[in-house]
Amino acid sequence: MSLVKLVGKVQPTEIYNLAAQSHVQVSFDAPEFTADVDAVGVLRILEAVRTNHLEKTCKIYQASTSELYGKVEEVPQNENTPFHPYSPYAVAKLYGYWIIKEYREAYDMFCCSGILFNHESERRGETFVTRKITLAAARIAQGKQDKLYLGNLSSLRDWGYAKDYVECMWLILQQEKPEDFVIATGVQHSVREFAYHAFKAAGMELKFEGEGIDEKGICVAGPANLVGKTLIEVSEDFYRPTDVVNLWGDPTKAREHLGWNPQKTSFEQLVAIMVKHDMEKVAAEHVASVMRTNLAEYLEKGVVK
Ligand code: GDP
Repeated sequence: MSLVKLVGKVQPTEIYNLAAQSHVQVSFDAPEFTADVDAVGVLRILEAVRTNHLEKTCKIYQASTSELYGKVEEVPQNENTPFHPYSPYAVAKLYGYWIIKEYREAYDMFCCSGILFNHESERRGETFVTRKITLAAARIAQGKQDKLYLGNLSSLRDWGYAKDYVECMWLILQQEKPEDFVIATGVQHSVREFAYHAFKAAGMELKFEGEGIDEKGICVAGPANLVGKTLIEVSEDFYRPTDVVNLWGDPTKAREHLGWNPQKTSFEQLVAIMVKHDMEKVAAEHVASVMRTNLAEYLEKGVVK
C-alpha cells in the first residue's frame, strides 16, 4: 500500500528498482525474506504503477543479475544464454526477471532488466569478497589486522566499476524499445587474482602456495615486518552450499545498442580505487581513535573541560 501511495504521489516517469537482499550467502540463511523482497517486491512495484494508471508514462528498470546464469551453461554469458539459478537469491531474482518480461508483453509496459555482472566500488558492502579484501589489505598494511580468511579463491567473476554500470542503467531506459541487456566488462578474474592485485596496491606482494583449504597467501615482498608471513588463509566458513564459480559476461549488445564502453574503468583501476579509499579510511579511523584516547586523558587530567 505504501508503494501504491508513493507512486501515486510522485507520479514518476522512471523507476529504478535496486532494492534487494543482495547477498548470495545470506540468502541461504534467509531464503523466505529474500524471496519476498527480491521476487514479490518486483511485482509490487509493477502493480503500484498499474494501479496508478501510469503504465504508459512510467518506465521501470529492474536490477537483474548474472547470478541467474548460476551453474553456467555456456561461457561467456549473453542475453540468450539459458539460466540456471544456483542459490535462493538467484531463484528469487529469476522471478523478478520473468515478471518484468511478462508485464512488458501483457500490458505493453516499458520495463527492462539489466542483467548486471558483479559491480564493485568503494561503497560495496564489507562482506562482499572485493571489499572484504581491500579493507583487509589496508588494515594489514597499517598493522590493524594480522590475517584475512577467505572461501573459494578459484571462483571466477567479471568485476566492473559500479559507477559505469549505473550510467548503463540510465541508458537502458532511454532506448526507443524496452529490452533486456547484459552489462559486464567481458574480462574475468579469480578471487585469488583480486587479492593479489589489492595487496600489491597496498604495498605487499603475495605468493600463493598449496591447494584448496590448505592454500595460503604469503607475503614475499613489502614491509620488513610482513615479509615471510602468511596473510591469507582459506576457511570453510566462507564456502557456500552451492557456489557459482564461472561468471563471465558478453557485453556486445550493450556496446552496440547503447554505445556503452565496458572497458571505461579497467580491473586494475577498480582495485586501485577501492584500495586507495580503504587505505585512507583505515588511516582516518586510526587518527580518530588516537584523538579519542588523547581527549579522554586530557579530560581526566583536567587539561580540557
Ligand atoms: P556474489 O558474486 O554476489 O556472490 O559476490 P561475493 O563477493 O559475495 O562472492 C563472489 C565469489 O567470491 C563467490 O564465488 C564466493 O564464493 C567467493 N568468495 C571467496 N571467499 C569469499 C569470502 O570470504 N566472502 C565472500 N562474500 N565471497 C567469497
